[in-house]
Amino acid sequence: MAPELAKTIAAIREHVERARKSGRSVGLVPTMGALHAGHAALMDCARRECGYVVATIFVNPIQFNHASDYHAYTIDLACDLDFCAAQSVDVVFAPDAAEMYPVPQSTFVEVTGVSDHLCGKFRPGHFRGVATVVAKLFHIVAADRAYFGEKDAQQLAVIQRMVADLNLPVAIIPVPTVREADGLALSSRNRRLSPEQRRIAPVVFRALDAARARIRAGTTDAGKVKDAALEILNAEPTVRLEYLEVVDDSGMQPVEEIRGPVRIAAAVWLGATRLIDNVFFTPSSH
Ligand code: AMP
Repeated sequence: MAPELAKTIAAIREHVERARKSGRSVGLVPTMGALHAGHAALMDCARRECGYVVATIFVNPIQFNHASDYHAYTIDLACDLDFCAAQSVDVVFAPDAAEMYPVPQSTFVEVTGVSDHLCGKFRPGHFRGVATVVAKLFHIVAADRAYFGEKDAQQLAVIQRMVADLNLPVAIIPVPTVREADGLALSSRNRRLSPEQRRIAPVVFRALDAARARIRAGTTDAGKVKDAALEILNAEPTVRLEYLEVVDDSGMQPVEEIRGPVRIAAAVWLGATRLIDNVFFTPSSH
């Protein structure tokens, strides 16, 4: 069945209120549209765990560092609504920018520490924009549970920290990264890759996986672990590395010695397209 479409804050509040009154728990899946199987995994988890599933489709202008990147994010709402129908989403909240930001935003949520490294270092203000819009969505939708992909592990950590620090009454549910058969993490940005770039792109996961294999083999020196990934990335001259880090999984701080759960995370450029990916390792997982 096609989901309901709410374009205003008042309308989505009414939908959610009605669902709550009928005793259903509410699951929230925030997205920026251009939906793919990674988003479907989030919707699927929400569907299994909640009586009422809300997907949001909103390209949030205040989280982009460059206007050109923002404008490259084109949404085909009809196509995304069909996608949501196939995932049995109950309602899609798709506001325009003027609905979410009727006047320029003066109030921001800044999550310090956890947003200092990785993407936070290279995209100043990005996580401030993300945390602010997610806080707004939490207040608008008042969900019991909200679903975020591990593909964006630092974003997930930022949201978890925000929810803990601000005592927000929502459970954050992490969902594992969905990958193509060749290892490439699904992303809306993948469709911007040329066929040649698409052929090369799985090198990112191969490199991260090799680094993880080195930890499994007993290496605890993060520098040596990173070398395993660099050997593979450097063999592809068209890949420009932005960062490669081993960070602790909750604080997202670079570590030198691997003793607890870590993420090995990278951002690369393939031409004008920026790709990020990460893998998880915990000493008890091998
Ligand atoms: P986006 O539309 O790119 O902002 O992503 C919306 C949500 O989908 C975020 O929580 C992402 O982490 C999640 N997501 C995006 N790609 C994937 C993927 N390949 N696997 C799992 N979750 C994903």
